Amino acid sequence: MKPTFDLASLVRKNILSLKPYSSARDEFSGSEGIFLDANENPFGTYNRYPDPRQKALKKALSELKNVPQDQIFIGNGSDEVIDLIFRVFGNPGTDSVIICPPTYGMYEVAANINDIRVISIPLDNDFQLDIDAMLERIRNDKSVKLIFVCSPNNPTGNTLRDIDTILDNFNGIVVIDEAYIDFCPESSYLGNIQRYPNLIVMQTFSKAWALAGARVGIAYAQPEIIALMNKTKPPYNVSKLNQEAALKALSKKKTTKNRIATILEQKEMLMQELPKIAYVKKVYPSDANFLLVEMENADAVYNRLVEKKVITRNRSSQVKNCIRITVGSPKENRILLNELKRMEQ
Ligand SMILES: *Cc1c(COP(=O)(O)O)cnc(C)c1O
Repeated sequence: MKPTFDLASLVRKNILSLKPYSSARDEFSGSEGIFLDANENPFGTYNRYPDPRQKALKKALSELKNVPQDQIFIGNGSDEVIDLIFRVFGNPGTDSVIICPPTYGMYEVAANINDIRVISIPLDNDFQLDIDAMLERIRNDKSVKLIFVCSPNNPTGNTLRDIDTILDNFNGIVVIDEAYIDFCPESSYLGNIQRYPNLIVMQTFSKAWALAGARVGIAYAQPEIIALMNKTKPPYNVSKLNQEAALKALSKKKTTKNRIATILEQKEMLMQELPKIAYVKKVYPSDANFLLVEMENADAVYNRLVEKKVITRNRSSQVKNCIRITVGSPKENRILLNELKRMEQ
């Protein structure tokens, strides 16, 4: 049975008692007036500090995702969100996090930076969670404060099942990284944030919204968790340029929808064509915008592609003889397939 959830007991004491920096734009947040409060330059276009609360962006996201604004956190990319979660909840040197490789490398790096012990519980042969091993660890190791899972998972591409079992049996923080969810919206856990006070769902503008260059990451959770992240973040963590870029993307939903449709069509095409190549041993099913492909010799294929200026991601160190191929534009994918076919000779 799940023990009662007690947020305050999970939060680092210094964060719990932290009195946040109060910026000029926090104290007076109206938009009309003569602003002589923040030592800004009165000239120029980007002369003013950005909204530290990103209100316009949160309002737009709130309407799109049907989540109250106080349950939305905006970060300088998911990378900042991941780091902040460790900083809010992880006591350096004593707490630990469970991660499930092969998965996104930033969880481990951010844990190491914050001196949080990493407990690896690898995915099984179907790239699904090893629930029994996770439950046993949670029961027997009280240092486990956090669990990071990624669904659809990078680099394997599949959606994870049974995350509910973890949420039901763990009273630490469960982070579900949904960076690729817009390619497979039906499997999102966003609808569960009201039900689970220990759940943080991460999403990003970097993939489906085509804004990797803008650095805008999102966390959804209950207001108490969002408030802790807000008071810990740097005041102006998301630049005005980045907020504007995200708002602009949200105002062109049709463009995004069409792009996603094209990417999914192209993924189907690659799923059809890649297995026809003699040295391709397996194309894993994918709910994301990339394919994990097993080769007879991944290093050789990767290197030959680089020579042809087609850059893929060699994931052999994580999954034997596999490269991860992002679904590109129709033209890029055609070139990829041509180069791969030429290597057959
Ligand atoms: C690409 C990716 C992200 C996005 O990170 P940003 O910092 O928002 O660009 C997050 N998680 C996973 C698993 C990813 O693959």
